[in-house]
Amino acid sequence: MSTEAPPRRRYKPGDFDLKVKRASAGLGLFAASPIPKGACVIEYTGTPITREQMYTSNSRYLFEISSRKTIDGSPRWNTARYINHSCRPNCEIEIYKGRVWIFARRNIKPGEELGYDYGEAYVEAYLSGKCLCAACAPKAKAA
Ligand SMILES: [Zn+2]
Repeated sequence: MSTEAPPRRRYKPGDFDLKVKRASAGLGLFAASPIPKGACVIEYTGTPITREQMYTSNSRYLFEISSRKTIDGSPRWNTARYINHSCRPNCEIEIYKGRVWIFARRNIKPGEELGYDYGEAYVEAYLSGKCLCAACAPKAKAA
């Protein structure tokens, strides 16, 4: 595929100060120190689950890494679970060696909420017409 990871990336989260705080869509994860564009922010971790568990799980934090590997990111020690969906994201996901990494798409200032695009399927299933991300919330309020 042409979506091969750029080779210069460093797959190890930097020493950034991140804070879980109230956001427009429940709790969110915020930068408490500056994060430079391209930096590895955090790893999305969780418990590996089987295919059967994947189909019967009610977890909203399932992350399908490949056709053979899915993790359930709902444990609280997975701080990355607090990152909300954003339609105008400052972060992006990259899967590398079977693990999920979150990178900064641009420079992020302290106080900014982190967000990445959860993808069309999630948005349709859970957020259809009621996305509360910073890009959509003003529209939602006006409606
Ligand atoms: Zn949105």
